[in-house]
Amino acid sequence: MASNPPEVLVGKRVEVLDKGWIELVDMLPSPATGVSGDLAIVNAARVSFMGESKGPEKDKKLLFYLLRNHHTSPFEMVEFKFRVRAPLVTWWQWARHRTWNFNAQSGRYSPFEENDFYVPDVWRKQAASNKQASDGEVDPATNDDLTNKLNEFYKKGYDLYEEALKAGVSKEMARLFLPGFSVYYTWVAKVDAHNLMQFLRLRMAPDAQYEIRVYAQAIYDEFFKPALPWTAEAYEEYILKSPSK
Ligand SMILES: Cc1cc2nc3c(=O)[nH]c(=O)nc-3n(C[C@H](O)[C@H](O)[C@H](O)COP(=O)(O)OP(=O)(O)OC[C@H]3O[C@@H](n4cnc5c(N)ncnc54)[C@H](O)[C@@H]3O)c2cc1C
Repeated sequence: MASNPPEVLVGKRVEVLDKGWIELVDMLPSPATGVSGDLAIVNAARVSFMGESKGPEKDKKLLFYLLRNHHTSPFEMVEFKFRVRAPLVTWWQWARHRTWNFNAQSGRYSPFEENDFYVPDVWRKQAASNKQASDGEVDPATNDDLTNKLNEFYKKGYDLYEEALKAGVSKEMARLFLPGFSVYYTWVAKVDAHNLMQFLRLRMAPDAQYEIRVYAQAIYDEFFKPALPWTAEAYEEYILKSPSK
């Protein structure tokens, strides 16, 4: 067997940020086949029958050869389908990755709850060297003051949202009162292993915003690595250590 059996991962949920999470809903190869993700990649490269292996040593060597030489299409044979709850500030960036397939919860259909808003643990300071990044944290007193103000702002927005709903305004319009970047949304998101590696390389990097970096890191540590241990080893060796590739 090339790696851990995939069935232990389907249904697994990992907490992220204050109220978010990532859950693996399904994956390809299906756990029912008993074929690991790494072996599915190797099999695709050999265009052979599912489950056929030339032994762990040759299989692993072939997988490393594929990734090292950018022979990427076999990695598209492994797919991950997640359910993810994340604030819109995270989705705003995630949705830029066009190779993912998404389906989002409808704020026109389901009303939002009072605690559906992201409250950060710490307020990061503006980075001096990078206009797009943050660096360090504000002092504890300022931190608490900003968090209190944020919670007041959320309460005010949510009260107005409820007031509008009670006045008969549609959900699609009442939500204009909600703080847009902070509201949590649940999406179903599907991607293959090749394009997931591209996403992870960009979004686990230190210059990615923290609110997406923690999701990317959780996907890598909790799902990608256990599902595809050989691929992860090759990925760290050939892609993450050589960012230009
Ligand atoms: C740190 C950081 C800062 C960013 N800042 C900004 C910003 O300020 N403003 C902004 O608008 N965006 C910003 N982005 C988003 C960035 O510009 C990309 O849109 C995003 O990273 C998706 O990259 P991608 O094209 O590699 O991914 P995907 O869309 O997943 O595509 C993967 C690969 O598929 C191929 N591909 C997909 N679609 C096409 C297509 N239509 N035509 C040709 N090839 C295609 C390309 O090879 C592409 O690299 C930022 C991203 C990062 C990581």
